[in-house]
Amino acid sequence: MKIQTVGIIGAGQMGSGIAHVCALAGYDVLLTDVSEDALTAAQETIRGNMDRQVSREKITEADRDAALERIGRTATLTDLGKSDLVIEAATEREAVKDAIFKELVPALKPDTILTTNTSSISITRLASKTDRPEKFMGFHFMNPVPIMSLVELIRGIATDEETFDACMGVVQRLDKTAATAEDFPAFIVNRILMPMINEAIYVLYEGVGNVSSIDKAMRLGANHPMGPLGLADFIGLDTCLAIMNVLHDGLADTKYRPCPLLTKYVEAGWLGRKTGRGFYDYRGEEPVPTR
Ligand code: NAD
Repeated sequence: MKIQTVGIIGAGQMGSGIAHVCALAGYDVLLTDVSEDALTAAQETIRGNMDRQVSREKITEADRDAALERIGRTATLTDLGKSDLVIEAATEREAVKDAIFKELVPALKPDTILTTNTSSISITRLASKTDRPEKFMGFHFMNPVPIMSLVELIRGIATDEETFDACMGVVQRLDKTAATAEDFPAFIVNRILMPMINEAIYVLYEGVGNVSSIDKAMRLGANHPMGPLGLADFIGLDTCLAIMNVLHDGLADTKYRPCPLLTKYVEAGWLGRKTGRGFYDYRGEEPVPTR
């Protein structure tokens, strides 16, 4: 099936990155969000990131201008009904995603492929509440989308081969690489990554190390490009907590219990880079550890 128009729901860090790469690959993109401010910020972020790609000679000015032309915005979710492919990238809460699909589904073309960028929530359960579980999939990009080459493709129990092949075709056109994962909580990357981040927060909580020593230890001792606490801030602490809760509930194993310190930061609204404060304070020139 031919995909030319891509509707993207949620204009946060992931939605804006997905719009960026889809537009550069020649897709016509329509981006929506409940927040007009998020839509405006996304347009600015995309332009800024494409400008950087131009200055690094990764793309030409003409590529950038044509891609920006291809990105439309709308405050009306049902405007995405005419898309060939929809990628949902709203907040990581099942109730939010359910409400989005409930409103959108009646407006969709019969053959629209519906996908979600969820980091952890069951694809099969999300799909079962739509009219098209066979045309529903997990399409999981990594952050930052323009830089990270992996996409996890996750079939729900009912996903058909045509849908899987069409999504694989999109991954290839985006010049990214797919890893296929089965539909179990948090799939592959976050099933492995998030317990490590949660463990780093326990190490901080128990006073084994402070923010700087933990991140330094993992950067220099395990050769990770970012320390786990800096990475958690980058991902968003609300998203990290939501993923740990999905692992804990979905696998019913206490080894996945979220660290109380992670919960405390989220309760404080210290969600990491996106709110200016998390395990580091980003409000000054240089990030300063908060512990
Ligand atoms: P974010 O907080 O940056 O953005 C979420 C956006 O969704 C916000 O702009 C919010 O206004 C919008 N939104 C909320 N409810 C909505 C609704 N009903 N309709 C339309 N828009 C709505 O979050 P993010 O980091 O971009 O994460 C989005 C999704 O991508 C989540 O499912 C997350 O698990 C997943 N994801 C995140 C990462 C990451 O590293 N942050 C990586 C891969 C996947």
